[in-house]
Amino acid sequence: MKFDNSFARLPERFYVRQAPVPVADPGLVRVNQALAGFLGIDPAWLESETGVHVIAGNQVPDGADPIATVYAGHQFGSWNPRLGDGRAILLGEVIGEDGERYDIQLKGSGLTPFSRGGDGRAPLGPILREYIVSEAMAALGIPTSRTLAAVTTGEFVYREQKLDGGVLARVARSHIRIGTLQFFASVNDMDGLKLLVDHVIARHYPDQIGSENPALSLLEQVIRGQASLVARWQGVGFIHGVMNTDNMLLSGETIDYGPCAFMDSYDSAAVYSSIDHGGRYSYRNQPAVAHWNLACLAQTLMPLFATDEDSASEIAQQALDTFPDLFLQEYFAALGAKLGFATSQPDDETLVQDFLDLLESNRCDFTLAFRRLSELAANAAIIQPLFDFPESFTDWLTRWRERCAQEPISEAERHDQMMTTNPALIPRNHLVEAAIAQAYDKDFSLFHQLTERLSQPFEYSPADEYLATPPRPDQIVQQTFCGT
Ligand code: AMP
Ligand code: MG
Repeated sequence: MKFDNSFARLPERFYVRQAPVPVADPGLVRVNQALAGFLGIDPAWLESETGVHVIAGNQVPDGADPIATVYAGHQFGSWNPRLGDGRAILLGEVIGEDGERYDIQLKGSGLTPFSRGGDGRAPLGPILREYIVSEAMAALGIPTSRTLAAVTTGEFVYREQKLDGGVLARVARSHIRIGTLQFFASVNDMDGLKLLVDHVIARHYPDQIGSENPALSLLEQVIRGQASLVARWQGVGFIHGVMNTDNMLLSGETIDYGPCAFMDSYDSAAVYSSIDHGGRYSYRNQPAVAHWNLACLAQTLMPLFATDEDSASEIAQQALDTFPDLFLQEYFAALGAKLGFATSQPDDETLVQDFLDLLESNRCDFTLAFRRLSELAANAAIIQPLFDFPESFTDWLTRWRERCAQEPISEAERHDQMMTTNPALIPRNHLVEAAIAQAYDKDFSLFHQLTERLSQPFEYSPADEYLATPPRPDQIVQQTFCGT
């Protein structure tokens, strides 16, 4: 690993220098070969005893400068003045094949000064869920943190039960959160806040370098990023589950695969997280929550917008007011593309909403419904579809065909576009849970199958039927747990 650690070069009040805590008996679970190669890391080395010891935190690689970073955040709406990396260590940054900078962070790597009451560790289950789901999101083309590798620790962690422990090596463009800025603003460290704004702009939004009002440029960029990100989540039926401000990255990538889930049958009110009692982070609330989080960010940056409070507040409000329209544009572009439209027409929004209403009232599988529509776009005979539309869709399908006829592209082109926009495979909760249960019994075969097949979610062959099929009623997962 060729490190160049820009965050660790920031002043010491941004982090605490802290090595990962070694574990008893590290074991390899999986190395993400393609991602390792992309980051200039030899996958064979990563799979070797040394590589496994590095991921487990038993050995600090040359050039790393391990730190635990400080942040704060609003969790379920309540302010928490000091969170920080309680079970994660940033080893350092490497430059990818694309010339961009990437953090390599170990999650589950032991106690830090930010561990509060926790043990600094992660059970194997949530590590495997994060591996499967983050890599599936990446394959779906959604900005996300990635997984470089996962190992077992040979130690137990104690939650409701005694569980095998694991460590995940997470990769992201950075791990700087809305909550990181909130921390510096809350302790009135305006120099720290400014330094961090400049750091994030240099790293993620280099076209904004030298802008007249850097803090405002940053807010505008993050607003755009969140509008686009959440629109993409909606487009695949992804429910993040814990959209606290400490779990929202300024880079615009998805992070924190705790109690997340993909929905099977369409339910706009879907909530899976065991700790989300009021449905604050339900599927349909995600855009509004993103807006709320951005308001926290705007408030944090306000002192940098202008010297007098009234103008600062007006600047913040103006920027925030752009979010709903930006989101809707991104959302209808995403949903329009799922219906096979390359252009947009005034009635498209109604057509989209009517389709979703039909999915909801018929409890149709979200993923398979769009996939079936993609198949119908070519009018090809499909033998034994996994899903077919019930009678109640007849009128809607006629309207959709009429609308498709107005597109400037051929049926074949539309079919191709839709088949690469609407996945056949998503990480279905019942399969993720089954893979985790098997892994606790020392059988990682389903975990490996899922990671491999979900790397090509738009490809389907009859051998994938068990991966594409929605759960039977007795297999439906009602709740997910974050394992913190
Ligand atoms: P999360 O729910 O993963 O977003 O975590 C919220 C906060 O709790 C972060 O500051 C984490 O570092 C911390 N945390 C979560 N789990 C643990 C743990 N097992 N030990 C120490 N800190 C933890
Ligand atoms: Mg978190």
